[in-house]
Amino acid sequence: MSELFLTTKDQIADSHTLSVYRSKLQGYAGLERALTMTRDEVVDQVKKSNLRGRGGAGFPTGMKWSFMPKEPKHPDGSPKPKYLVCNADEGEPGTFKDRLLLNRYPHRLIEGMAIAAHAIGASRGWIYVRGEFYQEIVILKKALEEAYAQGFLGKNIMGKGFDFELSIYRGAGAYICGEETALLNSLEGKRGEPRLKPPFPAMVGAFGMPTCVNNVETFCSVVGILRDGPEAFAKVGTERSGGTRLFCVSGHVEKPGVYELPLNITLRDLISHCGGVKDGKKLKAVIPGGASAPMLSAEEIDVAMDFDSLMKAGTMAGSGGVIVMDETVCIVEAAARLLKFYEHESCGQCSQCREGSHWLARLFHRIETGHGDTKDLDTIARLCSNMAGQTICAFADAVTGPALSSLKKFRKEFEAHITGGCCPLKKPGQKAPHFLEHHDHVAL
Ligand code: SF4
Repeated sequence: MSELFLTTKDQIADSHTLSVYRSKLQGYAGLERALTMTRDEVVDQVKKSNLRGRGGAGFPTGMKWSFMPKEPKHPDGSPKPKYLVCNADEGEPGTFKDRLLLNRYPHRLIEGMAIAAHAIGASRGWIYVRGEFYQEIVILKKALEEAYAQGFLGKNIMGKGFDFELSIYRGAGAYICGEETALLNSLEGKRGEPRLKPPFPAMVGAFGMPTCVNNVETFCSVVGILRDGPEAFAKVGTERSGGTRLFCVSGHVEKPGVYELPLNITLRDLISHCGGVKDGKKLKAVIPGGASAPMLSAEEIDVAMDFDSLMKAGTMAGSGGVIVMDETVCIVEAAARLLKFYEHESCGQCSQCREGSHWLARLFHRIETGHGDTKDLDTIARLCSNMAGQTICAFADAVTGPALSSLKKFRKEFEAHITGGCCPLKKPGQKAPHFLEHHDHVAL
């Protein structure tokens, strides 16, 4: 078992409190070391660690920090403030790791954000939390109070002349607010809709100021890098993707849960680590990085779970949500459920996404319920080609992930639904799941 940077082998009681975080988890030692360094030195440490963002895109964190302007100014020459935002709006289906970090290690997030704020020169930060995370918000609030009281936030942090104010902002629970510019709009009190880029948030972010947005796990990973040096982190994982990450494994495995493992673990080994496929059944498919990651078939699981290997395999590491499906799963039904979700969550700004996600959900439902036509399969492919890469944000691309991969890898199953007039895996007379039932069978 490799070193752990985010969790502990055995759960430590009250790890969310400042006293336990300080006494048993070397709490705030990373910030203490960071404050002895210049901003550029902190950024260099993170670059050397090969840490890549854990929110979904996998962009190198140190490089993202280095994009922040050094001394931005208003047109009249006065200094512009810089902001730091934590994306704690975890909403990708199959993903539940940031929630664990917020629950158990809120001070690690605060420490990571304070380190990042020092590195980019930010004096103000927000933790944008999914509104439904009530318990996590209560824990986080208490942790912020403790951090302020002990001088880890606020003015003159640790007596080093560094000021950083941090507060919580509750989102209202829209999936699209996980997209960083939609999140910034929501933070400003506007509709949570993605912005056209450029300008990127590093130039024009929250309230028009240069802003850096990172995910909860990314900030938490920074703490160990600064505390122990970047080498220990970089040597775990692969050459271009350092460290461990939290994999949220759900579906048909014996021991579902959140596992911290090195990024070079293969998907096969990860499933074994979770006790293998449940009840000794055969594996059918895996979604390796949250719902928008294209599915892999059972023959494709010898792939390493780092960002580059998964991309080479035609899918993505995404949010680390690994959904395992055994031989009993109807892939058409699984994809239809995901597409129904995306149809509901499209913000509606782009016609390709607004209409495309609606028609895809409708087509998949039609096929799943045995009312499909062979022509529908070509229509799905054509719709997807008109969505990916054509819109304001990557949501439309995400919608095409489950649609195209399920069709490509399990085409025979789609055809069996069409020719048989029903799901080949369901017993005669068994109905489609409730969530799909309200759709009409309207001709396309
Ligand atoms: Fe909104 Fe979809 Fe366009 Fe993204 S791609 S801005 S979610 S309509």
